Amino acid sequence: LAKQRGRDCVQLFDAGVELSLQAKQELLRRLAQALEAREFVLHYQPKVDMLQGRPIGVEALVRWQHPERGMLAPGEFLPTIEGSELEVELGEWVIRSALQQIDSWRALGLDLPVAVNVSARHLLRPGFVRSLRDALAQHPAIAPDRLEIEIIESTAITDMHSALEVLTACRALGVRLALDDFGTGYASLAYFRRLPVDLLKIDHSFVRDMLTDADDRAIVLSVVHLAQSFGREVIAEGVETMEHAQALIDIGCHLGQGFGIARPMPPTHIPGWMSWYTASADTDAPSFAPPP
Ligand code: C2E
Ligand code: MG
Ligand code: MG
Ligand code: MG
Repeated sequence: LAKQRGRDCVQLFDAGVELSLQAKQELLRRLAQALEAREFVLHYQPKVDMLQGRPIGVEALVRWQHPERGMLAPGEFLPTIEGSELEVELGEWVIRSALQQIDSWRALGLDLPVAVNVSARHLLRPGFVRSLRDALAQHPAIAPDRLEIEIIESTAITDMHSALEVLTACRALGVRLALDDFGTGYASLAYFRRLPVDLLKIDHSFVRDMLTDADDRAIVLSVVHLAQSFGREVIAEGVETMEHAQALIDIGCHLGQGFGIARPMPPTHIPGWMSWYTASADTDAPSFAPPP
């Protein structure tokens, strides 16, 4: 199990410091340049079946490879681009890069489903589905269900009518859909029932404290039951320790993602990690990775 928590990103700003409007505009300008200069990269975090010790895919997570400051986490720059045109441009870049990555891994004999995070503004923008269809058409060898779109629960409820329409259209293309940070967005059950999502991702805040907090454990259990009742898959985010993995398996949640399994890593490390994880799989106990 990962004992040493080496972060894969550095921090650009002190947490909690609000940027001035001027600083924000400057950063936005710099971010637009960064996209031009190909300074954004995707790291990939494995998702596994903890019971079988089998990888099930990866999630693409964007980072900014800043020439002076190093690798910056999305929390450092996504809030700044929120609501701007750049948010959509970066989102389009993420989808295209993920598809290229699927092709590159395929060339190495690795058939790996990839999940991408899509923001509300991007998803609900006219033309999203057309652009997704075009991107898929450029990779005819990739089955559409190798791509999974993650939207946070609140995205689905901001503009329910449009969201439902777009998600249904994405589903019709054969792409898989996941509700991210599930449990934090208050989707009503009546609405949830109509959402064409394949997978619920239990937010890491509930998973983190489920061993010590009975309420959080109850929430995790309820989400697992909800998923099972509605025939959806469920995965726990934020699996940090062997104890978390065991507790999740005990309540019927076999899929997991978290630092205790693997940290997000550059795409070149993925094939090696996948072979290592598969080879070290022990059918009697959940498998965990050493620090990268
Ligand atoms: P998310 O989609 O819920 O992604 C999971 C986040 O949790 C990632 O942070 C990941 O590094 C972190 N994480 C993974 N395992 C653990 C764990 O065991 N414990 C804890 N405490 N955290 C864990 P990251 O990469 O900093 O991303 C943060 C958020 O930024 C993402 O949350 C997602 O909402 C957003 N994001 C990341 N990449 C993209 C992107 O390409 N597009 C959009 N629109 N949003 C993105
Ligand atoms: Mg996500
Ligand atoms: Mg999440
Ligand atoms: Mg999150």
